[in-house]
Amino acid sequence: MKTAVITGGAGFLGSNLCDRFLKEGCRVFCLDDLSTGRMSNIEHLADNENFRFFKQNVYNHILIPGDVDYVMHFASPASPPAYLDRPIQTLKVGSIGTMNALGLAKAKGARFFLASTSECYGDPTVHPQTEDYWGNVNPVGPRSVYDEAKRFAEAMTMAYHREHGVATRIVRIFNTYGPRMRLDDGRALPNFIDQALRGEDVTVFGDGSQTRSFQFVDDLIEGIWRLLHSDEVYPTNIGNPEEVTLLDFAKEVIALTGSNSKIVFKDLPKDDPKIRQPDITKAKRILGWEPKVDRATGLKITLDYFKKEFKL
Ligand code: UDP
Repeated sequence: MKTAVITGGAGFLGSNLCDRFLKEGCRVFCLDDLSTGRMSNIEHLADNENFRFFKQNVYNHILIPGDVDYVMHFASPASPPAYLDRPIQTLKVGSIGTMNALGLAKAKGARFFLASTSECYGDPTVHPQTEDYWGNVNPVGPRSVYDEAKRFAEAMTMAYHREHGVATRIVRIFNTYGPRMRLDDGRALPNFIDQALRGEDVTVFGDGSQTRSFQFVDDLIEGIWRLLHSDEVYPTNIGNPEEVTLLDFAKEVIALTGSNSKIVFKDLPKDDPKIRQPDITKAKRILGWEPKVDRATGLKITLDYFKKEFKL
């Protein structure tokens, strides 16, 4: 039986990953400081004998008994309001936390998997974004606490691979949505759903012409699973190339909820990327992976989850 340590395991992505590893017959040690993760994301696993939860911040030393086969490093605030509220914590978990997680992988001879991000590309000047694009990040802007922490984490991961021979994998995750997201995490989709269901104004930042490409969480988890078991050391984009403007996205959510909400425009946050779309040629080629869930289907599943979970 293989053992996986999943940092950030009570978060949106981490908890979906816990489920996948358990389904694949693995034992899971889930670490989370619950700063943005939630116990309700993992409470269905409480009686599973192959699952253990430790409340811990991974920028403190990580001590795990016995053999470990995989270290999946997913701990970090990930939504812009969450990391802007916790700038130093975000930098620490991306730097010291990544070092500790890599140290654990090295000590155990485990495979290390880094959850990186399309934010590495910043406000991109290349479109769609390919993995060999080095990005356009403002190192001293407010978003840099997340972007630069993740860029540092990638550099640290490659250094452990080159210097210590740790088997490492890096995924660059593009905007992802689905069950287990927080309703209050401040990202566009939960905001829009919450506002639309309450009949409040739907807040579009800027003029809404900025684009994003949203992928459903199940597609991401499948991509991660395949990348983990591949031989690819360099970063790989996993995202859904279906691109949409934020204004059209807000309209889709309003239509889906059958709401009478109106759209209002608010200031665009500083350094908000104007465009974002993954080039997934590499993932298709090396993993045989591509997204399967279209936005209409994924949004419906997510809406049902939010309604049930948050009694909306
Ligand atoms: N956004 C918006 N209204 C909101 C929240 C976000 O228009 O209530 C915009 C935000 O400015 C960005 C896009 O939606 O252009 C996606 O933002 P999100 O926070 O979901 O993630 P990001 O891709 O910026 O990390």
